[in-house]
Amino acid sequence: MVSYIKYEKMKSRERVFAALKREEVDRKPVINPVSIANVELMERCNTYFPYVHTNAEKMATLAATGYEILEFDSIAPYFSIQQEAAAFGCGMDWGKKDQMPDVKGCLYHTPDEIKIPKNFLDHIAIKTVINALKILKNKYSDEAVIIGKVMGPWTLAYHLFGVQKFLMDTILDPDMVSEILNRLKKATVKFANAQFEAGADLVTLADHATGDLVSAKCYAKFLKPIHQEISAKINGPVILHICGRTVDRMPDIADTGFKVFHFESKNTPQEAKEAVGNKIILAGNINNIEILLFGTPEDVKKAVFENIDAGIEMIAPECAVPLTTPISNLQAIVTGVREYCNARE
Ligand SMILES: [Zn+2]
Repeated sequence: MVSYIKYEKMKSRERVFAALKREEVDRKPVINPVSIANVELMERCNTYFPYVHTNAEKMATLAATGYEILEFDSIAPYFSIQQEAAAFGCGMDWGKKDQMPDVKGCLYHTPDEIKIPKNFLDHIAIKTVINALKILKNKYSDEAVIIGKVMGPWTLAYHLFGVQKFLMDTILDPDMVSEILNRLKKATVKFANAQFEAGADLVTLADHATGDLVSAKCYAKFLKPIHQEISAKINGPVILHICGRTVDRMPDIADTGFKVFHFESKNTPQEAKEAVGNKIILAGNINNIEILLFGTPEDVKKAVFENIDAGIEMIAPECAVPLTTPISNLQAIVTGVREYCNARE
């Protein structure tokens, strides 16, 4: 086996921070703005879904495998997208070993009903994430970067009002949509700031204004001003995550004040880079289904090389990986980055 250690002059943490400042790095960082949990990792650390979602020790243990076993430069403990919905009071199906949690039914029908519970930050679903971040901060604070995660107001509206109804309202009742977003954004800011206080170095903000459901015009009208406002109120660097085809709104996204945009393989690395230039750092975009789930380590490396060639600053899976993704393909992301640097030494 070739040793790449001699090319690794930086610790994971240094590498990510340098990349964020566009300073020189020994190799590209590999991060996971969203979940890389899978059944194989659960078996390796004997810690399983769904128990991790409501137990901070277990959440931290499973998250740390991303750094310990996959050798990613980051550790991200919030695996699902439903912790806030649970704290708002939605009915929850916490899923199982190979199934992500989901909400049951919708909680609200009008914006007036929206109430951020007084003890929002103390709800078990929220507290678990905050305490997991504290545990990870204590253990890894001079090694890896710790990445938190919050849902943006658009995604929260999907969970609290139902996707279909909310999307219909963007056409039928735009004022109501603005009112909903304005009320929900407070929960996003509150949870993000609590995560920075708990020790997160970066926080991913997932707001699924994805290309197949929401037009670029709709993003610019409803969400961009709110994203700009949120970004000014959050006390640390944010990674915006939006799934799907987003290249038509990337120039607007680059204008929000968020530090990083985490994008999907429905956009090629080249076109993403052309759309934003150096206005925002890009993280992505290794395809989940064809490459990470069903491809080979060689396919993974090829995708890694394409991203590095296009100038993508941080290499990452495009979205939360399927729970049956093989470890060998996730490890190939790091190996691919190392081989690329080695080949060019
Ligand atoms: Zn996604």
